[in-house]
Amino acid sequence: MKLRILGCSGGIGGALHTTSFLLDNDVLIDAGTGVGSLSFSEMLEIDHVFLTHSHLDHISSIPFLVDSVGYLRKLPLTIHAIPETIDALKKHIFNDVIWPDFSLIPSAGNPYMRYQQIEIGETRELDGRKITTIPANHTVPAVGYHLDSGQGSIAFSGDTTTNDAFWDAVNRISNLKHLIVETAFSNSELEIAKLSKHLCPSMLLEELKKFRKNIPVHITHLKPGEMSVIMQEIEQGTAGERPRMLTNGQVFEF
Ligand SMILES: [Zn+2]
Ligand SMILES: [Zn+2]
Repeated sequence: MKLRILGCSGGIGGALHTTSFLLDNDVLIDAGTGVGSLSFSEMLEIDHVFLTHSHLDHISSIPFLVDSVGYLRKLPLTIHAIPETIDALKKHIFNDVIWPDFSLIPSAGNPYMRYQQIEIGETRELDGRKITTIPANHTVPAVGYHLDSGQGSIAFSGDTTTNDAFWDAVNRISNLKHLIVETAFSNSELEIAKLSKHLCPSMLLEELKKFRKNIPVHITHLKPGEMSVIMQEIEQGTAGERPRMLTNGQVFEF
């Protein structure tokens, strides 16, 4: 399996895009503004979108993606998400006010997109590739993902704050090769990090004490303008191999 980072910022500006990862050529993990850097033919190849949660920075490209390529697709684009995320998309985005309901266009029998509910802890297998939701703790119902090729795995926290269940889940993955975990704020914004159910470096360092694997840790969702402060604060508190910043265009093979 190959995972290409299309967006891994907490915001936009210049080369910064919000969360979206391309798994092989046909699966998106979240669909933030990073999707906009794909070519038209690359967008046409996407059959599945797995969402972590309903926040705009993780879903903003779905309406444009469906509208751009829908009429050329043979099968609907499948949106995999927990029930609360699907409800939010139906109610607040594809509601015929903000955007058309493409789950009924051009017809209910053969629409441009469809929803497929996934539960926490459930595994979906696509051509031998296993995609499993793992627990997250955020202001809205949310999940992270475990991507398993059989040879190796990557785990992604999604948006989360402190959460023992996440660390229990990743500690159980025997072939885990990389961990991608969010740190949205700097330490000066500890209170905002707690209120918005994200992490800041001091919180991350406490969380990493629960992690029992010695593998590379990649930091995502950094607030634009605070990237170097956040990474410095993480590095100052880490001995041994230090977490590194996830970067746009980075590719993982596993
Ligand atoms: Zn969020
Ligand atoms: Zn986010």
